[in-house]
Amino acid sequence: MKNQVQVYNTLTRSKELFIPLQPPLVGMYVCGPTVYSDVHLGNCRTFVSFDLIYRYLLHLGYKVRYVRNITDAGHLEGDRDEGDDKFAKKAKLEQVEPMEIVQRYTLGFHEVMGLLNTLPPSIEPTATGHIAEQIEMVKEILASGLAYEVNGTVYFDVEKYSQNHNYTILTNRQLEDLLANTRELGGQDDKKGRLDFALWIKAKPEHIMRWPSPWGWGFPGWHIECSAMSKKYLGDTFDIHGGGLDLAATHHTNEIAQSQACNHHEPARFWMHTNMLTVNGTRMSKSAGNGFLPGELFSGNHPSLSKAFSPMTVRFFMLQAHYRSTLDFSNEALEASEKGFKRLLQAVDLLNGLKPSDQSTCDVAALKARGYAAMNDDFNSPILIAELFEAVKLINGINDGKVQISVADLASLSQFVKQMVFDVLGLQAEGKEGTELAPLMDLVIKLRNEAKAKQDYATSDKIRIALQEAGIQLNDSKESTTWTKL
Ligand code: AMP
Ligand code: ZN
Repeated sequence: MKNQVQVYNTLTRSKELFIPLQPPLVGMYVCGPTVYSDVHLGNCRTFVSFDLIYRYLLHLGYKVRYVRNITDAGHLEGDRDEGDDKFAKKAKLEQVEPMEIVQRYTLGFHEVMGLLNTLPPSIEPTATGHIAEQIEMVKEILASGLAYEVNGTVYFDVEKYSQNHNYTILTNRQLEDLLANTRELGGQDDKKGRLDFALWIKAKPEHIMRWPSPWGWGFPGWHIECSAMSKKYLGDTFDIHGGGLDLAATHHTNEIAQSQACNHHEPARFWMHTNMLTVNGTRMSKSAGNGFLPGELFSGNHPSLSKAFSPMTVRFFMLQAHYRSTLDFSNEALEASEKGFKRLLQAVDLLNGLKPSDQSTCDVAALKARGYAAMNDDFNSPILIAELFEAVKLINGINDGKVQISVADLASLSQFVKQMVFDVLGLQAEGKEGTELAPLMDLVIKLRNEAKAKQDYATSDKIRIALQEAGIQLNDSKESTTWTKL
C-alpha cells in the first residue's frame, strides 16, 4: 500500500502506524446511536467523522468491514444501572410498543445519515437482535470469576478485575480518584463494589422489554451489547474501535474489561475517539437541552439560525475541524462554511472546461503529496481542505489564463480534486433541480414581498401555503426570505 496512515490511538496516547491485522482487511466497530429520540448534530458529527475515516481507508484500497450498532434496549435513565428504560418510558408515554419507538427513530437516523451523505456501515446490528450472544458472554464472564449474581442481576466485579488488570487503561485515571468520585453504595444496592456495573439486569414487574435468561427474566446492561456484537462480527481482536470521546471513561472502559474477562485480551488494537460538537463551549447533548436537530438546520427553523443550511454545508462545516478537536457550532461558522463550500464546488465545476498548455507553471505533484500527507496524518481533513483551496486558486488561475498546466498535470489535478472532494470528503454537488428553480423562486419571493409591503397578507400567506404544498418551504427572517425543498 503506497499510503500509510498514522492513527492516534487513545489506548497508547500516541500516533501509531496503522497496519491492520490481516491487510487489506480492516475491522472497524463504532458505537452507534441510541434510538429513543432524534439524533442531534453532535451525534451526527461523530458519525460523519467515522464516515471520513471509513471513506479514506476505502480510498487507500483497504477492504473495511464497518460495524455500527443500534442501541435499542438496556439504556436506563440513571447512571448507576437504575431508573426507567428510556425506550419503555417513551413507549408508555405515547401508548405505543417500544419497538415502534425504535423503528421510528432508526428510520429518522438513516434519513439524516443519507442526507449527510454518509456511507451505510457494512453491518448494523441491534442490541435486541443479539440477546443470545450477550447472555453467552455474561455466562463466560461469570465462569471466569469476574462477575457475580445477586437476585437475578449480574454485576461485573471491578475491584477483583483490577487486581490483575488495569481497569482505567483507556483514560489513564487513578482507580483511587475514580472511587473517591463515585457515590457510596446505598442500602438498596445489591452490588458489592462502588464501581461494579451490571451485565444483566433483573426486570421489575412493570418492565416491558425483557428476555428469559439463566438468571430469570431481565435485559442486558448497556456495555455488553458492543462487546458481544463486535466479537460476533469482527472476532475477539479487531483493528479499530471508535465512538465519541464521552464514551471512553465508562462505556469503552467497561467494554475492555468485559472482553478481557471473556477473551483474555484487549478487543481492539486502535481506540479512536471523536471530540465533541459544542455550543458556546458546552457539549451539545440531549440532557443539556442545547441539541440542534439536523432538520432544524436544513429548514432554518430555529431562533438562533438566520436561514436554512443545506446538508452539504453542514457536512463541510464538520470536516473543516480535525476529528480530535472540539468544534463550536454557530450561525456565523455555518455561514462561513457555506461560502467556502460554494467556492470549492464552483472551482470543481470549472475543471472539465479548462484548457491545457504545452507545459505547467504549477506543481500539481507537490499539491497532491501535501493533501495525502494531511490525510495520512491521522485523517487531518482541515489541512486537506486548505490544500484543496490551493487547488481552487490554481483552477481559477488556469481559467483566467494566468497559470499554465500540461495535459498530464490537468488530468492529475482533476482526478485528485474530484476524488478528494467527492469520494473522501463525501461532499456532493447540491440539487441541480434547486438551481434551476432559483430564478423562479426569486420572482415568487419578490411578488410575495410586494404583497406584504401592501399589507396584503392574504396573498402572501396564499403563496407560502401553495409553495409548502408543492414541497418548498419559505423561511422568513428579519433581513430576507430563503427557501428550501422539503
Ligand atoms: P448516543 O445516541 O447518545 O449514544 O450517542 C451516539 C454517539 O454520538 C456516541 O458515539 C456519542 O459519543 C456521540 N456524541 C454524543 N454527543 C456528542 C457531541 N456533542 N459531539 C460529538 N459526538 C457526540
Ligand atoms: Zn458501544
